[in-house]
Amino acid sequence: ITESDEVIGSKPRIVVLGSGWGAVPLLKHLDSKKYEVVCVSPRNYFLMTPLLPSVSVGTVETRTVIESIRSLVGPRVKYVEADCVDIDPKSKTITCNSDGANPVSRGDDVKAIVKSSKREGGASSRIIKDSARSRPQFQMKYDALVVAIGSENNTFNTPGVEEHAHFLKEVLDARRIRSAISDAFESANTPSQTDEERKRLLHFVVVGGGPTGVEFAAELADLVREDLHHYFPRLVANDVKITLIEALDHVLSMMDKQISDYTEKHFRRENIEVLMNTFVKEVKQREVVIQFKGSNQLTSIPCSVVVWATGIKARPLTNRIREIIGLKVQSNRMGILTDRYLRVKGVEDGSIFAIGDCATIEQPKLVDQIQTLFEEADTQHRGALDLQQFKLLVERKVAEFPQLDIFSKTIEKTFQEADKDKSGFLTLAALHLALEKADRKIRALPATAQVASQEGRYVADLLNQIPNLSANDYQQHDLKPFRYKHMGSLAYVGSDSAVLDFTGTRPILDLFNLQPLSGRSAAYLWKSFYFTEMFTGRTKTLLAFDWIRTHLYGRDISRY
Ligand code: FAD
Ligand code: NAD
Repeated sequence: ITESDEVIGSKPRIVVLGSGWGAVPLLKHLDSKKYEVVCVSPRNYFLMTPLLPSVSVGTVETRTVIESIRSLVGPRVKYVEADCVDIDPKSKTITCNSDGANPVSRGDDVKAIVKSSKREGGASSRIIKDSARSRPQFQMKYDALVVAIGSENNTFNTPGVEEHAHFLKEVLDARRIRSAISDAFESANTPSQTDEERKRLLHFVVVGGGPTGVEFAAELADLVREDLHHYFPRLVANDVKITLIEALDHVLSMMDKQISDYTEKHFRRENIEVLMNTFVKEVKQREVVIQFKGSNQLTSIPCSVVVWATGIKARPLTNRIREIIGLKVQSNRMGILTDRYLRVKGVEDGSIFAIGDCATIEQPKLVDQIQTLFEEADTQHRGALDLQQFKLLVERKVAEFPQLDIFSKTIEKTFQEADKDKSGFLTLAALHLALEKADRKIRALPATAQVASQEGRYVADLLNQIPNLSANDYQQHDLKPFRYKHMGSLAYVGSDSAVLDFTGTRPILDLFNLQPLSGRSAAYLWKSFYFTEMFTGRTKTLLAFDWIRTHLYGRDISRY
C-alpha cells in the first residue's frame, strides 16, 4: 500500500471487504468515475463455491472454480491482499493485516495445513517461503465501507472436529479431501492390511445433511461408482461405505419435503447410508462418536475420512464489528444487523453497509403492525377479512413486509388454515396467529450465494444513484429498500440427478406452476445454471472441458 492510500483523494473512497459472492457483483457495478473503489480481501480470487463438492472428487479441477479478482474487476478497482482486523467507525478507518506468512489470510487454516503437510509433504515449505516476505500492518480511511466477509464453519465446539475432520468451504479444503480419499484407497490396498482395518479405511463419513453434506456425499458416490470401481473392483465391492449423518429427521430440511424424501430414496439406491435423528458428539482420529435421538447411549463408528458440513457461524471480525457498534443495537443475531437499505444498524451516518453471509436484515415484525394492517384491509369495517381482502393485504404489503412472500404462493391455504371455525372470514386474532407464524418462519434470509450476489448488486446501484454519500435520507431520494428475489434452490444428488425447489419464488415463476423437480432434467438445469453463472469465458471454457474430460476419460485419482 502506498502513502497516498492513507489519505483520500478527490473522489469519495468506497472500501469493500471481501472478494466473494457479495463483493464481486458490487465491485463490478460500482461507478468508478464517481468513486475510488478499493477491495481488501485475503483471497485474491473469487471462488465458485457451488462447484467445490465437484472439486473435492476431481470432477472439476481447482483452477476452474477460481478467478483472479484483478481480472474480474479490472484496474479501475484497487485490490489489496489483506485481512481487515479492526474498524473504527468514528475516524472511518480500517486496520488490516497483510502478513502473507499467515495462511489463514488466504482462507486456509494453519492447523490443517501443518497437519496435512506432515502427512503429505510440501505445504509446510510454502509457509516458510511465505514467511520470508514482510508486509506491514496498515490503516486505510474510507468514506463508505461495505463488509462482505462471509462466514466460517461451525463446529458447535464438538471435540475433535478441528483436528480430525475436513471442512468443505475453501478450495484448499477440497484439494485436501481429494487427496485424503486417494490416500484411504491406497492404504486399504496395501497387501498386509487386515479386513477390519480395510473396512475402516474405506468408510467415509459426512456429518450434516444440509446441501453441502448432500452434494459432497453424492459426488463421492459418483467417484466410487464411475472411477474407483475400475481400479479397485474388490475394494469397492466389499469394503467401501459412505454414511451421511443428520441430526434432524430428514436431509435438505430447508427444501420441500418431497425433495427430502426423493433425496433419501435416491441415496439408498446409491448405497449411501443415511443416519437420521443422529447427532455426532465427537470426532476421533479413527472413529466418530454418535448418539441417536432419544437415547443416552454413545456409539463409535470406525472410519477414516470425515467431512464436517454442519453449517456456518460468524467470523471473529463480524462479532468484533457488532461489539464496536454496540450489542444493544445489534441484538443477539448471528450476523451484522442492517436496515432494509443494507446499512449497518447503529452507525449514525450510514457509512457502513453489510451484505452476504455476515449480515442479517432487520425485518419489521408483522405482528407489531397487525392492528394497522387489519384496519387498512378491512375496508368494509366488518371486523373480519374475507379471502379477497386477505389476498389484497398480502399482495399490497409484500414489498413492505418480505415475510408475506411465503404466503403469496399459498394464500388460499393460509387463509383456510387461519380460518379455524370455517366462517369464511379472518378475525384480528386469527390474522395475528397467521402473521406470527410468518414472522417465525422468515427470520433471516438464507446464507446463500443467491442472496449475497443480489445484495452486492443492490448496494452498487444504491451508491451509484445517491447524489453524495452524506445524503443518507434514502426515502427522500425515492430509493427503494432491498428486496430479495428468490429464484429457487438447487442441489446435485449424484448419478446425474439433481433436485430443484421453487418454493418461495417470485410470482413470475409461479405462473408456470413450477413443482419441485428431481432427476435428470433437474441435473441439466443444475449444470446449465452453474455454467451460465461462471463469471468469465475462461472459467466457462475450463468447466466445459472438465465435464467433457470426466465424461470421456474419468477423474484423475492420483494423489499429489
Ligand atoms: P464469501 O463468498 O465466503 O466471501 C467472503 C470473502 O471475504 C472472501 O473473499 C474472504 O476471503 C473474505 N474475507 C474473510 N475475512 C476477511 C477479512 N477479515 N477482511 C477482508 N476480507 C475477508 N449458495 C448458493 O446460493 N448456491 C449454491 O449452490 C451454494 N453452494 C455452496 C457449496 C459450498 C460447498 C459452500 C461452502 C457454500 C455454498 N453456497 C451456495 C453458499 C455460498 O457460497 C455463500 O452463501 C456465499 O459464498 C456468501 O457470500 P459472501 O460474499 O457473504 O461470502
Ligand atoms: P446447513 O446449515 O444448511 O445444514 C447443516 C446440517 O447439519 C443441518 O441439517 C443440521 O441439522 C446438521 N447438523 C448440525 N450439527 C450436527 C451434528 N452434530 N450431527 C449431525 N448433524 C448435524 O449447512 P451447509 O449444508 O453447510 O450449508 C451452509 C449454507 O450454505 C446454507 O445456507 C446453505 O443453504 C448454503 N449452501 C447452499 C447450497 C445449494 O444451494 N446447493 C449448497 C451448499 C451450501
